[in-house]
Amino acid sequence: MVQTDEERKANQKKNRDKPESKENRLKVLQYYSKNLSHSDVPCCNCCGLNSHIEFLTIDHIAGRQEMDSEHNLKKLKYTPKLSGTALVIWITKNNFPKGFQILCHNCNQTKGYYGKCPLENKQH
Ligand SMILES: [Zn+2]
Ligand SMILES: [Zn+2]
Repeated sequence: MVQTDEERKANQKKNRDKPESKENRLKVLQYYSKNLSHSDVPCCNCCGLNSHIEFLTIDHIAGRQEMDSEHNLKKLKYTPKLSGTALVIWITKNNFPKGFQILCHNCNQTKGYYGKCPLENKQH
């Protein structure tokens, strides 16, 4: 079945608005920030921002040093096309595989653009 752009957008919105997808997203955020936050409050793995989960994104660490986890992720049929709700569902289904971290949009954007956040390991 061929979906039009409109249909695809409507579907994405439907998925995003489901209460369980919000809950799943929170679980994923909590899981990957636990060793930094030491609590149930998800935070950015780089600057520690934790005021709003809306500012946080799931970052795919690999590409730098995590070659092993990359291999593992491929075995689990990870594809870079997974994002947003689809990624949350995939992570939950695959039992929170290694290779992801939680970043805020700022740190994630700079990492994507420059390879790393200019304030990595420093006070933001
Ligand atoms: Zn940050
Ligand atoms: Zn940062």
